[in-house]
Amino acid sequence: MVSRVIPVECFDLVIFGGTGDLARRKILPGLFRRFCSGQMPPEAQIIGAARSELDDDGYRQFVREAVQEFGGTHYEKDQLDQFLQRLGYETVDAKGEGGWEALKGRLRDKVVRAFYFSVGPSLFGDIAERLRSFGLANEDSRIVLEKPFGHDLETARALNATLAQHFDETQIYRIDHYLGKETVQNLMAVRFGNMLFEPLWNAQYVDHIQITVAETVSVEGRGGYYDKSGAMRDMVQNHLMQLLCLIAMEPPAKFDPDAVRDEKLKVIRALDPVEPHHVVRGQYSADEKQAGYRVHAENPRSRTESFVAMKVHVSNWRWAGTPFYLRTGKQLRARASEIAVVFKDAPHSIFGEEAGRHRNVLSIRLQPNEGMTLGVTIKEPGPGGMRLIDVPLDMSFAEALGPDGEDAPDAYERLIMDVIRGNQTLFMRGDEVEAAWAWTDPIIASWVARNDVPKPYDAGSSGPEDALMLMHRDGRRWREIKA
Ligand code: NAD
Repeated sequence: MVSRVIPVECFDLVIFGGTGDLARRKILPGLFRRFCSGQMPPEAQIIGAARSELDDDGYRQFVREAVQEFGGTHYEKDQLDQFLQRLGYETVDAKGEGGWEALKGRLRDKVVRAFYFSVGPSLFGDIAERLRSFGLANEDSRIVLEKPFGHDLETARALNATLAQHFDETQIYRIDHYLGKETVQNLMAVRFGNMLFEPLWNAQYVDHIQITVAETVSVEGRGGYYDKSGAMRDMVQNHLMQLLCLIAMEPPAKFDPDAVRDEKLKVIRALDPVEPHHVVRGQYSADEKQAGYRVHAENPRSRTESFVAMKVHVSNWRWAGTPFYLRTGKQLRARASEIAVVFKDAPHSIFGEEAGRHRNVLSIRLQPNEGMTLGVTIKEPGPGGMRLIDVPLDMSFAEALGPDGEDAPDAYERLIMDVIRGNQTLFMRGDEVEAAWAWTDPIIASWVARNDVPKPYDAGSSGPEDALMLMHRDGRRWREIKA
């Protein structure tokens, strides 16, 4: 059962890019689920704002279809009709003057105002500026920004500076939807709500940590965009970095947005520069069933990586000597995201060599089947003597969240509710984003300087052979990528 739902304050939410793919697949169906759960107050208002010429009814029809396709099945028809009554639409040009006054006319006083920028980043500055110049934003308004947040340190800094001209940092919510996942928040609960783990959470007891975000999708259809970015910018600089921070950070003094984000920032700043031989880049090849990366990217000479694996060190007292291995890629064997904390061997086995060597692994699964498993070693039941086996202590919560986890709030809906509540804990602060780029930029620059060519790998594999070697050289191995 999902816990008690407490409604948020009444709000007006404007979605710039309200007719786009993200709004259709994630934001609007997510808001509908929050409406059905009672968390979105019945008087709240959602206004789509985009370039398309639509009226309120046209937008309601668009949203009806989006909900029918992506909103799950656990709702009554009446609920959808009621939700649609909370919607409106204004044709607005982010770069022009049209539509802004009409949009302003729809906003109410004394309710929370939030503006979701679900548009390309090149429009962020224009929208922020017009929200101020047309008087739509007040001191309490919030803006929500989608990734990518910059292309490198320079562009991220410029974007932060532009936003800062119009909004205070306390009003800016930079989304990394990985932070909205149930397991990610649970990671903090497990670490800081229990006595059990924290004493062991350091280089003395942890052998290494693996963070894997594996996707089965290719870049087909968005190859043009992806080819300018690559796995390092698209996944490592933001999502994997955020996961690394939550695993590695010191306990904040309290669960408060700046206390948490201060600790995450310290982790990023403690990252060592990465040695070139500690990074493996890959690009998926063609096979008999489908074209390879370069065809999907429409760039026959592309040197952009669709896979990256790396060994990273956090240079501080807690983690000195414990490597973090990160890997992410497209067209891999399964869609699976996992953080694995691999503890060291017991210092001495009293059971003899034949009992085998066993290690405790805490596995934190982000998808599919969100949950955690702690592998512990026990005696194999039965009269067969003292033989040891590993069994999982399963802390999976997918079942507790309803059939197929369908009642579980999606990361986006959870984060949007946090925006309305004014809670920035799970959003990236400007200095965090800049620090992450400051670490990422030299890695990318060194590839460019060396003319580095990514290693080919088969679709449906776990990445290039060299990525396996990255671990084998250290006497370790990657965990299997499985759904
Ligand atoms: P999209 O191209 O499907 O939609 C873009 C939206 O912006 C449309 O509603 C369009 O009308 C509107 N728009 C474009 N130019 C405009 C202008 N000048 N004035 C007003 N409106 C304008 O894009 P998307 O996939 O929905 O992505 C939106 C943002 O979210 C991008 O920054 C993207 O990187 C990010 N994002 C998308 C996804 C996803 O799954 N689609 C995931 C993560 C991040």
